[in-house]
This record gives sequence, C-alpha cells and structure tokens, in this order.
Amino acid sequence: MLSISELKSLLATPQKIVITTHHKPDGDAMGSSLGLYAYLIQLGHHVKVITPTDYPYFLHWLPNNSDVIIYTDQPDQSAALVADAAIIFCLDFNTLSRINELGELVRASDAYKIMIDHHLEPEDFDDYRHWNINACAAAQLVYDFIVNELKDGAMMNKDIATCLYTGIMTDSGSFRFPSATSAVYRIGAELIDLGAEHWKIHQLVYDNATENRLRFLGHCLSNKLEILREFNTAIISVTKEELREYNVATGDTEGIVNYALSVNGIRLAAFIIERTDKVKLSLRSTGDFPANEICKKYFNGGGHRNAAGGASDKNLEDTRNEFKSILTEYKTQLLQ
Ligand code: 5GP
Ligand code: MN
Repeated sequence: MLSISELKSLLATPQKIVITTHHKPDGDAMGSSLGLYAYLIQLGHHVKVITPTDYPYFLHWLPNNSDVIIYTDQPDQSAALVADAAIIFCLDFNTLSRINELGELVRASDAYKIMIDHHLEPEDFDDYRHWNINACAAAQLVYDFIVNELKDGAMMNKDIATCLYTGIMTDSGSFRFPSATSAVYRIGAELIDLGAEHWKIHQLVYDNATENRLRFLGHCLSNKLEILREFNTAIISVTKEELREYNVATGDTEGIVNYALSVNGIRLAAFIIERTDKVKLSLRSTGDFPANEICKKYFNGGGHRNAAGGASDKNLEDTRNEFKSILTEYKTQLLQ
C-alpha cells in the first residue's frame, strides 16, 4: 500500500497515467474520470482515459471527451497504454470484472493502482484507496482527493468543476437522493463558483434526448410496464427486436427504470433488457429495500442498496419469471 505522501511525491514528476472506469460508463464514471484527467494534465502528466466500452451521446460534450480511448474500438493501443503506465486510476468501480477484458490487463500491469470509489465490497487489487460508500458519487471523492488529500485545491479549474459537477449531479439524481447531504450541496456550490454552469450541464445531460429515445420511452410506458401490486413492484422488459425496431442507441435506455419506480406505492422497479449476449437487469428501490442483495444473490451482480444491476444467461421470459418468483422471498419487506 502507498501512503498519501508517497503518492504525492510520485505525482510531483510527470508520469504515464491511465484513468479507467466501469463498462457502459455513466455520468459519474465519465465525470470523475475526465475531472481527474483535467487536473492531472495541468501537472504535466501524460494521461489517457480508457473506457471499457462506449458511453451515451449525452456525455460526449464533456471537456476533453475527444481524448478518451474506447477499449473495444482500440484494444491494442489500450493494452499498450495499460502495460506502459506508471499509475492507473480506477474510478467508480472496485472489482476488476467491472472493466471487462481490461481488468486482467490492469491486474497484470506493474503500475501503481489507485482506487477512487463508492461501491460496496472492494476487491483487493489496489495500492492506494480513496473509498467511501457514503459518498454520493466517485466525482465527490475525486474532489475530496484533490482538495483534501493532495491539498491541491488551488489547481481546481472550470473543466475539472464541470466534470465533477456532472458526476455528482447524475449519481445523486440531481441532488435529490439521501446521499446528497449538505456537504454535497456545499461541494456543488464550490464547483459552481469555480465555473461549472449547473443549468447548462443539466440541460446537456437531461434535455438532450434523441427522438428515438423519447419514442422508445413512450413504448415502454404504454406497452411494457407491468405493475405487480401484490409485491409493490414494477417491471419493464424489452426484447432485442424492440431495441432494433426503435433503433435504440447506447444511453437511450438510461433512466427508464426510474419511471417504473415513480409509480405510487412502488418500492422496487426492474428494467430487464435482452442484449445480444445476455439478459441484463437494472433494479431500483426506495428506502432500505436492498436491490443489490437480489442482484448479488441471483444475478451475479451487485451495486448500491437503491440502485443495482446484474445479468442472466437465461432468456428474457425466463429471467422475468425468475425475478418474479424471487419476490415472494422479499414480500414482507416490499409491503412494509
Ligand atoms: P445500472 O442499473 O444503471 O446499470 O446500474 C446501477 C448500479 O448497479 C451501478 O452503479 C453499479 O453499481 C451496479 N451494477 C450494475 N450492473 C452491475 C453488475 O453487473 N455487477 C455489479 N457488481 N454491479 C452492477
Ligand atoms: Mn458512481
């Protein structure tokens, strides 16, 4: 394990650095990564952000987005960068399986591995860990890392603030989840003072839907929403054919599960989607209902208590039926 002073002296001279984040990156994954990127390039480091897969179009406006390398598009270049790195920052994930094939490349690399994350149950692959499950976003921890751990708040600028604000906004449900504490609001205010245009960031992320996304959402709500009142649970499931019919792109399915959760009385919502290789589940819950427990126990996944995910090798129909049969076990909690 590295101490913070060892890490600081390492960062005092230009290094080859890779920043990576979880597959299908969301606002926090990209915001925390590009926020840290904007900080490190100021120090003169050679930095690359490598994502395991592509990510939604509504994040492509983030500062320095054009410098991001997508592993699936450039596997050889990505592998060479990982092998050659002196430091690898792992943001918004804590098990190497979350970065797909990149995981084993990172494990094999001699680089120092720095984990900055807020998920439960970290895997032991890192050399320095800035980890707090109470943080609302990895971006909040990047802020804390720069300002309070490295004591380098003077290097904060508009690009860093814009990226970190995006991460905090998206992972806290626009500052509305319980994780959005007064301390998070204070960081938000600080980022606005540093130049983050909060209104514009919100617009770019949330009022930037393609026509396809809106029509697909309409289809999900009109035709696919299943309400199980006896379990206070709502399910939306979609087939490969529907994804094709509506020309659904990366990011178009983001947040649809929240509409199912917004139905009155619903404590658990599932969005079940038939991808080419497997069936993927996204669960959301309210209060203390452990959505992550269901994902971990039955769907080889995990996540946070109120937002979790997993996958199944069964077909869509069987996965939906399996999910429904599991609800009996949780009936008491769901009806509380
Ligand atoms: P989403 O439903 O947006 O894909 O994921 C919500 C949260 O669930 C993510 O932030 C992540 O913590 C967790 N998650 C989603 N899919 C998986 C998975 O396959 N494995 C694990 N361990 N966590 C997941
Ligand atoms: Mn996150």
